[in-house]
Amino acid sequence: MNGSLILVADDSQEIRRFIEENVLVPAGYTVRSVGDGMSAFTLAHEIKPDLLITDQQMPNLTGIELIQRLRRDLPHLPAVLITSEGSEWLVVEAMRAGAVDYLTKPFEAEHLLAAVGRALAERHRWQSLVEAQSEAQISAESLARRLHELEALAQIGRTVTALLNLDEVLTTVVEAAVRLTGAEEGSLLLIDEDSGELYMRASKNFDEEFARSFRLHVRDSLAGQVIASGRSVIIDESSPQKIKTSYLVHSLIYVPLRLRGRMIGVLGVDNRTAGHALTDQDMTVMSAMADYAAIAIENAQLYRRSEVERSKLETILTQTENSVIVVDPDDRLLLINRAARQVFGVDGKLIGRSVVETFEDAKLLKLLCTKGNLPRREEVQVPDGRVFSAQRTPIEGVGQAIVFHDITHLKQLDQIKSEFVTTVSHDLRSPLTAILGYLELIERAGSVNEQQGEFIRRAQISVKQITDLVNDLLELGRVEAGLDIAKEDTPLVVLARYAIEGLRGAAEYKGVTLEVDLPNAVPLVNGDPVRLRQMIGNLLDNAIKYTPQGGKVRVVVEAEGDQVIMRVSDTGPGIPPADQPYLFDKFFRASNVPDDMPGTGLGLSIVKSIVDNHGGRIWVDSKLGDGTTFTVILQAVDT
Ligand code: ADP
Repeated sequence: MNGSLILVADDSQEIRRFIEENVLVPAGYTVRSVGDGMSAFTLAHEIKPDLLITDQQMPNLTGIELIQRLRRDLPHLPAVLITSEGSEWLVVEAMRAGAVDYLTKPFEAEHLLAAVGRALAERHRWQSLVEAQSEAQISAESLARRLHELEALAQIGRTVTALLNLDEVLTTVVEAAVRLTGAEEGSLLLIDEDSGELYMRASKNFDEEFARSFRLHVRDSLAGQVIASGRSVIIDESSPQKIKTSYLVHSLIYVPLRLRGRMIGVLGVDNRTAGHALTDQDMTVMSAMADYAAIAIENAQLYRRSEVERSKLETILTQTENSVIVVDPDDRLLLINRAARQVFGVDGKLIGRSVVETFEDAKLLKLLCTKGNLPRREEVQVPDGRVFSAQRTPIEGVGQAIVFHDITHLKQLDQIKSEFVTTVSHDLRSPLTAILGYLELIERAGSVNEQQGEFIRRAQISVKQITDLVNDLLELGRVEAGLDIAKEDTPLVVLARYAIEGLRGAAEYKGVTLEVDLPNAVPLVNGDPVRLRQMIGNLLDNAIKYTPQGGKVRVVVEAEGDQVIMRVSDTGPGIPPADQPYLFDKFFRASNVPDDMPGTGLGLSIVKSIVDNHGGRIWVDSKLGDGTTFTVILQAVDT
């Protein structure tokens, strides 16, 4: 190959000159020649030629010996041997020694050039092979290292998520950083929010006492610069002077610790003595480590916060005077607080036990074992006579919680009130009945003139009105208190049919047509049948009462999604828009009601209270002269 450097060793100056001047230089090679083996050996080490051409017979060192010796130090140097005798033995020896070719004197220039060309081509191939091999080795090594790093990173990742102890996680991170970068020591510095100083939260290979007492002001330190800029630094041992951190080091890497975009510290590794160099790749690995550390710190903070919340909640639930029971979707106890244990007289290891094995009260069991979104309430009486209102709330992903409110006192009040109401109603109704009776007797007792008869009728109407008012007031009081409500899964359609049958006579008498659309397939609602029937009855009664002869009243019940809708419409006079907002107020009567139309103005208040007690909604659509529609919406029972 042109330009290649060839070392020629021959004790004959004539041959040296021939080879150099007549053959090799004209062919474009650079040539150095010597006259003996030892000089060739020394020069070869110095100039590292691409090819050696050596004569076999030379003083001190023969050509074969020279090739043999050089092979040890310059294994890739090809050699061509020139001999004066072409014996087979010599050829074998030359090849064994490492010669790639040989020429027997006398030889022609072109033979030498051909041998040189072959040897150099061989060397070139060899060299490419060696380079490829060493490249392959380098990439295999870097691949192995990368793999090792990735494995270590994955390991740290697993540790970070598995360990809840922050000290352990951070120490693991620092140790891994030191191991992966091959540094001498490592540290994780965090900012102390109060003092603004950096302290050593975790370390590897630092003196324990030093690590504990380590304090560094953020502003004047290299770590502080990293925190301020948010950028990692790498300083290696080629730096002219030692780096002052708070101790002297030759090389170091600092990467910032970022928590939700805020710098909270640095992760660092360093070498105090000159040695293993730190690289950019080490910095990349360290950044990943810093991320893990930040995640661990965040996890620990979240865990600490949730622990505080959890124990707060547990204390509240345990200490609260209300009884609380939480069950999972398989009706097993997740929590039963102290108050609930006392109330239900249960004790021992209850968590995880089935509620069926724990409680006996049928109403409580029904509530505990009910599924679905519909919140439900039950009154539960416990053996010591106390009465609780139990409210069930489904909790997504947990099960359901039942909170018990002691309503014994309210129950007693209700009892007293009921007794009072019964007494009052009896005391008021009795004289009213007597008045009515005597009014009737007047006519029978003797003849009354027309005017007297009219007075008697008016007195009768007034007594009837007072009786209605007393009844409605008592009724409203009971409904509003809402305590005597006994809810069960009830078919609204059936209640509507009963209500219609009860008022069919009144409608026929008045000449009003009743139309119904009450399909059986409508789902049940959870409610008090007596109150719901009363609610439908009041709406229907009004519709018939206010609709003139020849008009129509229509009752429809239907299901929509998880709701049951009831509509009571009529073709009556309608309600003035200005009056509509006050329709459900006590004693309110619309301005278009004729004076002689009987009524107390309490019917719709009772209706509204009943709907409210059942968690439903009611509204009116009405147009003067066109009729009125009352719509009631109740939640359907989950099936
Ligand atoms: P009342 O005893 O007067 O019927 P309600 O509370 O039942 O008392 O009704 C309040 C008022 O609402 C009534 O006085 C009437 O003005 C109006 N109203 C109720 N239902 C109807 C209806 N179907 N058509 C027209 N007006 C009605």
